Amino acid sequence: MSATKVVVIEDEPDILELIEYNLRREGFEVATATSGRSGLSVIGREKPDIVLLDLLLPGLDGLDVCRRLRAVDATRHLPIIMVTARGEESDVVLGLGLGADDYIHKPFSPRELVARVRAVLRRGGVRERDPERRIVRGPLAINPVKHRIKVDGRRLELTPTEFRLLHFLASHPGRVFTRGQLLDRAVGDRAVVIDRNIDVHVRAVRKKLGPHRGLIQTVRGIGYSFRDEEG
Ligand code: CA
Repeated sequence: MSATKVVVIEDEPDILELIEYNLRREGFEVATATSGRSGLSVIGREKPDIVLLDLLLPGLDGLDVCRRLRAVDATRHLPIIMVTARGEESDVVLGLGLGADDYIHKPFSPRELVARVRAVLRRGGVRERDPERRIVRGPLAINPVKHRIKVDGRRLELTPTEFRLLHFLASHPGRVFTRGQLLDRAVGDRAVVIDRNIDVHVRAVRKKLGPHRGLIQTVRGIGYSFRDEEG
């Protein structure tokens, strides 16, 4: 099996060097670029398995790069981890909305970085492989065909929106979704305006999860994720 290839796009030399060194040490193959535009051509040439993308880049910034990668078939599902500074939460929300898979805040430890890369590769894309597949996550058991969710063997009485929300989150453990993404996936256009506050639905689901309410985690300033037991 050939090594997993990572393209790192980062304009700060020290950080670029740190990332490259640590990924190579873990056995990854690494190609680098220091601007958005050169990053796109390196990706085209190297056909990486995953991209680490700094958000603040000269010229074409990380969000532009993300948008362009998602706009073409060859890179539509290429895993992207955004590298951001703390306080850029609104950009993270935009990036996740554009299809980035995850983000990591600077400064990060090498261990955290490598763990994040492995987790995103393990999880794969957001595409539903088999929407009818039964899901078991700790105390939670989901039967999508019967539209039924049990926790500790007890059946939850969920509204259709609550079911879709919990099913969607549990299908992608560890992945952070913005409120907008969850609205699209769980609520859609069907609901009346008053139901379009995703926090209300999350609160209701958590209440029904009782002692397991912590399965749904709040990611401050960004959104929600389902607890990843492996990550
Ligand atoms: Ca930068």
